[in-house]
Amino acid sequence: MLLLVGLLGGCKKDSVAPITGSVDDAAFNEYEKHFLDEFWKLNPDWATGVGYHKYDSILLVPDKKYRDKLVNFAKVQLDSLGRFTPTNFLQTNKMDYAILQNQMNYLQWQVQQLKQFEWDPSSYNVIGSFAYILNEHYAPLPKRLTNFYEKMANIPAYYKEAEKDLKNPVIDLTNLAVAQHEGGVGVFETDFADSLKKTTIPEATKKLMLDRAKLAADAIKGYAGFLKNFKNDHPRSFRLGKDLYEDKFKYEIQSSKTAQQVYNAAVDRKRVIHHEMAKISIKLWPKYFGKTPTPTDTLELIGKMIDTLSVKHVKPDEFQAAIVNELPKLKAFVTQKDLVTLDPTKPLEVRKEPGYMAGVAGASMSSPGPYDSGQNSYFNVGSLSGWSPEKAESYLREYNQYILQILCIHEAIPGHYVQLVYANKSPSLIKSIFGNTAMVEGWAVYSEQMMLDAGFGDNAPEMWLMWYKWNLRSVCNTILDYSVHCLNMPKQSAISLLTREAFQQQAEADGKWNRVSVTSVQLDSYFTGYKEIMDLRDDWKSKTGDQYKLKDFNEKFLSYGNAPVKLIRDAMMAKDPVAGKN
Ligand code: ZN
Ligand code: ZN
Repeated sequence: MLLLVGLLGGCKKDSVAPITGSVDDAAFNEYEKHFLDEFWKLNPDWATGVGYHKYDSILLVPDKKYRDKLVNFAKVQLDSLGRFTPTNFLQTNKMDYAILQNQMNYLQWQVQQLKQFEWDPSSYNVIGSFAYILNEHYAPLPKRLTNFYEKMANIPAYYKEAEKDLKNPVIDLTNLAVAQHEGGVGVFETDFADSLKKTTIPEATKKLMLDRAKLAADAIKGYAGFLKNFKNDHPRSFRLGKDLYEDKFKYEIQSSKTAQQVYNAAVDRKRVIHHEMAKISIKLWPKYFGKTPTPTDTLELIGKMIDTLSVKHVKPDEFQAAIVNELPKLKAFVTQKDLVTLDPTKPLEVRKEPGYMAGVAGASMSSPGPYDSGQNSYFNVGSLSGWSPEKAESYLREYNQYILQILCIHEAIPGHYVQLVYANKSPSLIKSIFGNTAMVEGWAVYSEQMMLDAGFGDNAPEMWLMWYKWNLRSVCNTILDYSVHCLNMPKQSAISLLTREAFQQQAEADGKWNRVSVTSVQLDSYFTGYKEIMDLRDDWKSKTGDQYKLKDFNEKFLSYGNAPVKLIRDAMMAKDPVAGKN
C-alpha cells in the first residue's frame, strides 16, 4: 500500500518514468517516449488537441501514402512491443503496454477494415483543429496565428484528396459534413481576420495571411458543394453492421464483455429500473394526484409522475446561474461525506459555451490535456437564448430541478471534472492520451449513484425517481446503439424506446436519433463503464472485507488514470497492486 502511494505521489505530473521498477520497466518507459514522438508527427491535429504544440503548423493530407504510413507505423510498434515481457512490468506499465497494443491493432483495423475514409465525409474536417488554435490561449496570439497561417497551406490539397477517396458515403454523414463545413467556415472567413486585427503583425504579412484564409474558405465551401452534388447511387447504410460493430466495440470500449453481452445486460437492467420506478411512482402518487386512481399501465404511471415532477425547472435565462449555484453544494457534500479528496488548486470555471464549439445546447466539460494540465477546466453551458418558447420548455423539463443537480454531479463533482483532475496526475501520458471513454463516462454515471447512495437529495423519492430516469438513459443508449447498428431497429421503434420506455422529451429523443445515425459504439460507453465499475466495487468490497472504505475505492480507482476498467480491475484485484504479481 505504502509503495503505491509513494509511486503515485512521487511522480511529477508529466513524467513518464516511475521511480521504481526493473530494467525492463526503464527500457519500456524509454520506448514510450520514443513512441509518442513518432506518434505526434503522424497525428499533429491530435497533438494540438492534447496540448502538445510542436506540430501546430502542420496539416497532413489524408492520402493513400499517409494511410500506408499509419499501417506501417502500427506494425513497427507492434513488433517493438513484442520484444518486451510485460509480465515483469510494474502494474502501471503493464496497463500502458496493453493500451498501446490495443491502440496499434485498432489503427490497423481502422485503415484496413473499417475504411471510414471511403464512406464518412465528416471524417474529413480541419475546422475543429484550427478553431482550437485560434481560441485556446495556450500561447501568445501572434504565435498561434502564424501556426494557423502555415497550417492552412495544405487545406486545398486536403479536401481534394477527400473528394478523391470518398466512394459510397453514408447519406446522414454526408449531410452532417455539409452542415459542419458550412457552419464552420466562419473560422476562416471572419474569426481569423478578427484575431489578426488584435495583433501588430505588419500589414503586408496580414494581407498574405488573409489571402490564404480566402483559399482555405473556398476549399471548405467547395467541399460542401461537392458533397451536395455527389452522385451517390449506392450509399453505404448508416448502420455499421454486427461484425464491424463487435470489433469496434472491442477496440474502443475495451470491455471484458462483448457488445452483445453488454446489450443483454442493458435489456435486463431496463426491466429492473422500470420495476423500481413503478414502486416509487405508486408511493408518490397520492402526494401529487390525491384520490385519482393510478393508471393500470406501468409505463403510463411512471410517465405521468415524471411529467408532473418535470414542471419544476428554472427559467431559460437562469440555467447557467443555477449550475454555478449547484457546484459549491456538491463540493461541500463530497467533503462532508468523505467520498473523494478534491483538489482545491485545480479551479473549475462555469462559462457560456464558446461559439466555435457549435454545440447543441446542454452542458459539457473542457479539461486541460495531459500536456497542459495546469490550465483551467471549463463547464460549458449552452445558451437557450433565441430558442422558441416550446423548444426551451421541452429542454428545461428534461433538465428539470432534479436532473439539473444530477447533471452537475455527472459533468463536474464528483464526475468528469474530478476524474480528469485525477487523470492528469496519473504518472502515465499513455493513459491520458488514449483515454478510455467507457472508464470516463462510466465514472460519471457511477458517481451519480454514489452521491445519491450517500444521501444526496435527502433520499427524496422524487430525486430517486429522476435518478432512475437518468440512469435509464445510459441503459437505453446501449440498447439503442446496438439495436440500430446490429439489429436494424427502425426509427419509429427507436423513438418509442426513448419517449415511452425511457420517458424522454420528444426533442431529446430526436436529438438522440440524430446522434445514433452518425456515430456508433460511442453511446455504449456510459452503461458499459458504469456496470463494470459497479461490479468491480462489489468484488473490491469482498476482497477488502472489514477494511472497505468507499473513499479508498474511489481514489484507488481514479489513481490509474483513464485506463480501461478491465485493466484497472486487474491492477486492483492483484495481490500486490504495485508490481501486480498475481
Ligand atoms: Zn415549464
Ligand atoms: Zn459524460
